[in-house]
Amino acid sequence: MIQFDNVTKRYPGGIDALKNLSFKVEKGEMVFLAGHSGAGKSTLLRLVAGIDRATSGTVLVNNQNLGKLGGTQLSFMRQHIGLVFQDHKILFDRSVFDNVMLPLDIIGFEPREAAKRVRAALDKVGLLDREKSNPIRLSGGEQQRLCIARAVVHRPSILLADEPTGNLDRDYAHDIMELFRSFNQVGVTVLVSAHDEMLMHTYGRRIIRLAQGHLTP
Ligand code: ADP
Ligand code: ADP
Repeated sequence: MIQFDNVTKRYPGGIDALKNLSFKVEKGEMVFLAGHSGAGKSTLLRLVAGIDRATSGTVLVNNQNLGKLGGTQLSFMRQHIGLVFQDHKILFDRSVFDNVMLPLDIIGFEPREAAKRVRAALDKVGLLDREKSNPIRLSGGEQQRLCIARAVVHRPSILLADEPTGNLDRDYAHDIMELFRSFNQVGVTVLVSAHDEMLMHTYGRRIIRLAQGHLTP
């Protein structure tokens, strides 16, 4: 489902954020990505999402070599991916409901089916009773759940999350991880980065550890 072969990512300025990295995530797996700040976690996730391209090596997602895809094919591929990234801005000039509707608007979903999906996603993350609220009224943990609802509303087969628990207390962090686990249980392949290894260990899933763009034991 996700496979890196000898992937290097060099940013302008000469930093190799990833160096000859190879690993595989099977379909239906839930895998954690661990490492200190600057280890290359975000870079790895951005390559999987097709937001950035590898400098060398091969990135395969759903059996497609992302390096060989053109713009249109890449955006089509991205419809199968859900992203919970730190720079994914919540829009505060519209409701919780409309924020989650956004990805379906972009795909051009039929409105009634779209509304049904938005409510199903909000229900999943426990925010159905807040659908009419302005997101500014939500707590940090609730805003994170809103981002997760928005990431899964189009039912992606792969869910990528970049430090989704980074700013949350331990209890809230567990709630968020439980949500990812529930999506994994219905068959979604999940790749979640974090730097709190204690938190990850509770889940007994495989942990890929990065340090300076390399895998470490
Ligand atoms: P992490 O997510 O583990 O904190 P990143 O992937 O963000 O790590 O960063 C890995 C390395 O690449 C760091 O040294 C960082 O400074 C560098 N880096 C990240 N993004 C860029 C960029 N757009 N331009 C130049 N260097 C970058
Ligand atoms: P519905 O109840 O709207 O007909 P389905 O029967 O298609 O939905 O799906 C059953 C449940 O699994 C729903 O709650 C749906 O939200 C959830 N689900 C299925 N695939 C995904 C996915 N990729 N991401 C998130 N949730 C999903």
